[in-house]
Amino acid sequence: MPRASTPTAPDRPPRDRAGFAQVPGLVTGSAGAGASLTRPVRHPSDDLTSAERARLAPHVTDLDGPVFALVNLPETVKGALFARYSRYQGTLRRLFLEEFADSLPQGGAWDGSEGERAAQLYERIFVGYGDDSVAQLGGAHVACEWVSNVLTKVLQRPRLAAYLEQSTRYIAYDAPMPGGGYRYYRDPELGPEYEAAMDALFATYAASLPRVRAWVDESYPRADGEPEAARARAVNAKALDLLRGLLPAASLSHMGIYASGQAYEQLILHLIGHPLPEARRYGEMILAAIQAVMPSFVSRVERPDRGGAWAGYLAERRAAGERWAARLGLEAADPHEARPSVTLTHVDGDEEQLLAALLFEAAGTSEARTRATVTGLSDPERGALLADLVGDRANRRHRPGRGFEALRYRFEIVSDYGAFRDLQRHRMLTVQWQGLTPDLGAGIPDEVGAAGEGDAYRAALDRSAAEYHRLADAGLAAAAPYALCLGYRIRYVLDLNAREAMHLVELRSGREGHPAYRAVAHQMHALIAERHPAVAAAMTHVDESAEPRLERILSEMRLQSRRAALAG
Ligand SMILES: Cc1cc2nc3c(=O)[nH]c(=O)nc-3n(C[C@H](O)[C@H](O)[C@H](O)COP(=O)(O)OP(=O)(O)OC[C@H]3O[C@@H](n4cnc5c(N)ncnc54)[C@H](O)[C@@H]3O)c2cc1C
Repeated sequence: MPRASTPTAPDRPPRDRAGFAQVPGLVTGSAGAGASLTRPVRHPSDDLTSAERARLAPHVTDLDGPVFALVNLPETVKGALFARYSRYQGTLRRLFLEEFADSLPQGGAWDGSEGERAAQLYERIFVGYGDDSVAQLGGAHVACEWVSNVLTKVLQRPRLAAYLEQSTRYIAYDAPMPGGGYRYYRDPELGPEYEAAMDALFATYAASLPRVRAWVDESYPRADGEPEAARARAVNAKALDLLRGLLPAASLSHMGIYASGQAYEQLILHLIGHPLPEARRYGEMILAAIQAVMPSFVSRVERPDRGGAWAGYLAERRAAGERWAARLGLEAADPHEARPSVTLTHVDGDEEQLLAALLFEAAGTSEARTRATVTGLSDPERGALLADLVGDRANRRHRPGRGFEALRYRFEIVSDYGAFRDLQRHRMLTVQWQGLTPDLGAGIPDEVGAAGEGDAYRAALDRSAAEYHRLADAGLAAAAPYALCLGYRIRYVLDLNAREAMHLVELRSGREGHPAYRAVAHQMHALIAERHPAVAAAMTHVDESAEPRLERILSEMRLQSRRAALAG
């Protein structure tokens, strides 16, 4: 528990003769058996009186050290406090006492709302600073439940946040929602035909699931040492993975978001100007949720000159894109493109540039001179230099330096929507995607065919495409993708630097991942190897294993042994 919950403020820590306070350092892991404390951190003291300590105690996790968290305060006040850092000479604790304490209720009880006084404080700071980024200094967790798989992508598009959504690998969509009916987005405007088509897709999924599960169970006999419970979970996950392509994009998920006030402002503006009614409704609900905890951060959203004008601009921008694509005859996909593909359409930089960029921070000279020097090395020397600069990457989290960001790759990918949905979650890159249509086709996993469910799967894909066309022809083009199965393909771009490419390719090639995005990761790696073999070779944690298997079994077994260790 943070110090804030202690009823009385603790005494002052010891000082040295110069009046500096000392807090002990940490035990260093690297010291091994003879572990020692790091040297105590010496820092100026806030010289707090007992009364000041008592006033501060509910709001900081440490009254003496130079590092502490703010607790029990509205997000708006935390943002305003940090914003003042830039123009206040003293420490944050001193600032709190001098400028904020009188405006805030005493004690540890905070009623959960921002409060009038906090809003006034924020407004004073914000107006004084006139800087949008002040709203980055407070954050909130917001749950968005019963959102379609179309909307999850819209919610995640701004990137500058943390997201978590339900997994189609662990949640079976064969059960009814509370109150009845399969788990899909409904809107009376979409008509009874839409609901009939969605019910048919879910009915196929529900009927196929036990049969595919039984087939997986028979096809992957338990290996020696595999615990039965871990294997049962892996069998289930594989069956759900195999059938996820049947689920329509209308399938509902629950999502958690953690973001700053500024990110929410952008997200809400983006949602309220969106063509989908579902997006606009969630925009309003997210606005209400943020208004309940940190209204000041989103106070401009409802102003016509701000939110209204911005949403209008977005709508115009979208319309201009569509107008020009139509005028230039670029709207439709060519039939021969209806297959999965990964194309490297553009590369920036070369391996010499990479070496120069990797050396940049250690050098004292210009990058041009460093580049000229590495150009003068022989190929084996450059190879050895790169290997040394990358070092021994014991695991995929050991990332090479920022020099890797000097190279950039633009990939154009056609994959099923399920794989896109997963790859779109990466944030340190530019992802752009086209509309989901049936034009690029859909595949049927071989294993589904082997399980005897291929015809049912194909019929479901056809039903889904027919419903898409019906909606589009009825003037509901924006909503038509709801009807499409996740197995339908979509075209998108991942434009990323080599450092992010390493992260994405190594993570997404992992044998625990879904085969659809693993295939994309493998192909991205192969294409990078053609252009920059040394960069591809530095990706030492690409998982190339290809044997048919239960994707989840390894991590299920690890989970099982962790549980056993905890129980023991
Ligand atoms: C096997 C597997 C199962 C998964 N299951 C689920 C699931 O059930 N539900 C689900 O929602 N997602 C799931 N994911 C997706 C996962 O949660 C991430 O969304 C995805 O891996 C992309 O995020 P990232 O941080 O790896 O990489 P990127 O977004 O590409 O970011 C690259 C790196 O930048 C840094 N970074 C990026 N953003 C932040 C930030 N906001 N704060 C701090 N550092 C940041 C991190 O170091 C990160 O590794 C799964 C992924 C895998 C591989």
